[in-house]
Amino acid sequence: MRYLSSRGKAPAIDFSEALLGGLAPDGGLYVPESWPVLPDGSFESYAELAAAVMAPFVAPVIDQADFSVMVADSYAAFSHPDVCPLVELEPGHYLLELFHGPTLAFKDVALQLVGHLFDYELRRRDERVTIVGATSGDTGSAAMEAVRDSDRVDMVILFPAGRTSEVQRRQMTTLGSPTVHAVAIDGTFDDCQDLVKAMFADEDFRARSRLSAVNSINWARVMAQIVYYVWAVRQLDRQEVRTTFSVPTGNFGNVFAGHVARRMGLPIERFFVASNTNDILTRLIETSEMVAEAVVPTLSPSMDIQISSNLERLLFELLDGNGPATAELIGGFREHGHVRLTPAQHERLVAEFGGDRLTDAETLEVMADVHASTGMVIDPHTAVGVGATRRLRRPDETVVTLATAHPAKFPAAVEQAIGIRPELPEHLADLFDRDEVVTPLPNDLGTVEDFVDSVRRA
Ligand SMILES: *Cc1c(COP(=O)(O)O)cnc(C)c1O
Repeated sequence: MRYLSSRGKAPAIDFSEALLGGLAPDGGLYVPESWPVLPDGSFESYAELAAAVMAPFVAPVIDQADFSVMVADSYAAFSHPDVCPLVELEPGHYLLELFHGPTLAFKDVALQLVGHLFDYELRRRDERVTIVGATSGDTGSAAMEAVRDSDRVDMVILFPAGRTSEVQRRQMTTLGSPTVHAVAIDGTFDDCQDLVKAMFADEDFRARSRLSAVNSINWARVMAQIVYYVWAVRQLDRQEVRTTFSVPTGNFGNVFAGHVARRMGLPIERFFVASNTNDILTRLIETSEMVAEAVVPTLSPSMDIQISSNLERLLFELLDGNGPATAELIGGFREHGHVRLTPAQHERLVAEFGGDRLTDAETLEVMADVHASTGMVIDPHTAVGVGATRRLRRPDETVVTLATAHPAKFPAAVEQAIGIRPELPEHLADLFDRDEVVTPLPNDLGTVEDFVDSVRRA
């Protein structure tokens, strides 16, 4: 399998280069040059299915037997035997629980595997890297957990001091790994992101510390997320009926993975793109226009995003794989803050994607109603997906809503909705008793670079 840039001006590369490189040199996102078909047959476990679904994407550079071992190790870190169990919420409406990984959000499904893939590839090349990243919450801890035991990767994650939830902060500061470092920046999430961008723009620093990233545009993350769509449809065992998926959406990575599963032949009817008040994608679906607005903080912070980076991969397809046209569309959006699809492009978009948005008040209402009617406790991100399903679903449509976070990850919102504080699962039960290790730093590039230089092995 070769990978092309969505902007059409970078050479085609193999999987390992897409894995380690992240963004293409022309600023585009890597997409596979063709869509493989899904494997036939039955599989004993999630990990076996996963290895088979992903095999064509990593060939020929990753050895298949080695890959199967990495996949098995990645999903052995999950606390549920099904890895991603499917549960019925109400007749014809299911939840796919993606939060049984080490850090309680669906990011683990992809990042656990990416951690193993990085180690494997770096060992093969006899190289080391320093991964830097900024997080407003979920991604940081999932990435840190994924490379905590790596002998090839050092990691420095910046988060805005005092602006993450206590659970999120403690998941980053109590790992006890000497090679992953949590840094509390005196500033906002945007300040953290700007510092990371500035480190990548500093050529000398970038080269000497062998800087790398595992952000949501990395193809390997999308690839790992294809699997649970296939898993869910197989669990439903109703493959004569087409299934619809409702996806709580931020960067569009998760829902794009579902789109790929559909392209690979999975019988998916359509997707509900579920947003909170930050509803740029819902507005795009409703109006054919994408207009940037300021980000508003909500109860579902992992979806508080203004520009969904992975959307570029879908636009590339809507433009029939025309890289320069995709570059122009994205460039126009970056420059003017708005862009409009042609009627034909918009028609193709709405044939596959519906969209809806929930306010915080509506999100709390869904959480309360689900608890009252089923006894189940859901987190605010999942509630946005459930709310969208309840509004958009046709009678008789089978819908799977992706449950993207464990309720205990967002205890304040859950308590506000149902008056009960959810308990942390067993492997994190002592989270609040663990010692925290965190380095507070000012919002200053030189100071942050000095810190990275002082801790990295690369
Ligand atoms: C990251 C995240 C999302 C958004 O996923 P995207 O792939 O960015 O669309 C939704 N819910 C939770 C809990 C998340 O952590």
